[in-house]
Amino acid sequence: MTPLVDTFGRLHDNLRISVTDRCNIRCFYCMPEEGVKFFDRHDVLSFEEIERFVRASVPLGITKLRLTGGEPLLRRDLPELIRKLVAIPGIRDIALTTNAVLLEQYAVPLREAGLRRLNIHLDTLDREKFKQITRRDDLPKVMAGIDAAVNAGFEKIKINVVAVKGLIEPDIVPMARYCRERGFEPRFIEFMPLDSQAIWERRQVLTADEMIAQISSEVGALEAVPDADPRAPATEYRYKDGSGTVGFIASISKPFCLNCNRIRLTSDGKLRYCLFAIEEMDVKGLLRNGASDEDIQAAIRKNVADKWLGHEINSPKFVPPPRPMYAIGG
Ligand code: SAM
Ligand code: SF4
Repeated sequence: MTPLVDTFGRLHDNLRISVTDRCNIRCFYCMPEEGVKFFDRHDVLSFEEIERFVRASVPLGITKLRLTGGEPLLRRDLPELIRKLVAIPGIRDIALTTNAVLLEQYAVPLREAGLRRLNIHLDTLDREKFKQITRRDDLPKVMAGIDAAVNAGFEKIKINVVAVKGLIEPDIVPMARYCRERGFEPRFIEFMPLDSQAIWERRQVLTADEMIAQISSEVGALEAVPDADPRAPATEYRYKDGSGTVGFIASISKPFCLNCNRIRLTSDGKLRYCLFAIEEMDVKGLLRNGASDEDIQAAIRKNVADKWLGHEINSPKFVPPPRPMYAIGG
C-alpha cells in the first residue's frame, strides 16, 4: 500500500491516541478548575474500537503509537489496551504520557502488558508550586509513581515540563538537576495556546533559547545533539560532560511543522492532522456502522491529504483550536 504522505511530502507513521478527556488534576494551562463538561461514556471509543482503528492504520505505515488524554491512567484496565496494541504486527513502538498520580499502582501492570516508554508530566519539585499549578496536592503521589516506574524497569523516562514564563523560571534548574541525577530526560515544552480558558499570551512563553541559556549557565554547558531524529518534536541537547540529555519542544519560538509525522485520534473518535487543527474527521461513525478496513483507510488518507502546512500561531491569522488540550490529547 502506498505510504501516508501528505501534499507537502511529509510521511506519517505516528498515531497519538487519546483514551479519555477526564483528568484527576487540573493544570491551569490545560483545564479549568471547575465545571468541566466531559464526553459521555458512550461517546468514548472502546478498546476494541481503538484496536480496530490501529489495525486498519498499520498497512498505511503507522508503526508508532502514543497513548495520552486527559489522564490515560483514569481509563480502567489501560494495561489491557496496551496488551492489545502490543500484539498488533507492525506496531514497533508504544509510549504513554501520564501525570503519574496513579502510576504507583499501574507501573508494574503496564510493564507486564508490554509498555516500554513513559513520558511523565511534572513541572516542579515544590509541593506548594505543584498545588498552585494543578490545584491538587498530589506531588507525593507523583513522586511515588516515578519511583514505582523506575522499580518496574522503565528506562529512559522523559519528564514533561510546561514552561510558562513568570512562573516556572525558579523550577527550571531544580528540574534539570533532578532529571540528570536520576537519569531522566527532561522535555521543556513551550506554553501553547491550548488551554480551555484562553489565558495564553505570547509574553507567557518561556522560549527554548532562554531555557538553554539558563541551564547552560547554572547546571552544565549544553550542546545540540548532532544526529538527533529531525522528525521528533523535541530538539535534543546534551551536557558537554556527557552527563545526560535535555529536550526542548519549541512549538512557538521554532515551529517544527515541516517535519511533522503525526496524526491524532481523540477519545470521542475524531481524527485530527494537527494539534491545532480546526477541522476534524469523524471515524467513530465508521467504526460503529460496519465500515470496512478500506473505508477507514480512505478516511485516514483523506485526513492526511487535507493536512495544512502548519499552525499559524506566529501570525495574526491564528485561530485557537475549538478543543482544549485535554480533549485533543497532548
Ligand atoms: N495527563 C497527561 C499529562 O499531563 O502528561 C497526558 C495528557 S496532557 C494534555 C499531555 C501533555 O500536554 C502534558 O504532559 C503537558 O506537558 C502538555 N500540556 C498540557 N497543556 C499544555 C499547554 N497549554 N502548553 C504546552 N503543553 C501543554
Ligand atoms: Fe490533566 Fe495532563 Fe491536562 Fe494536566 S496537562 S490537566 S495532567 S490532562
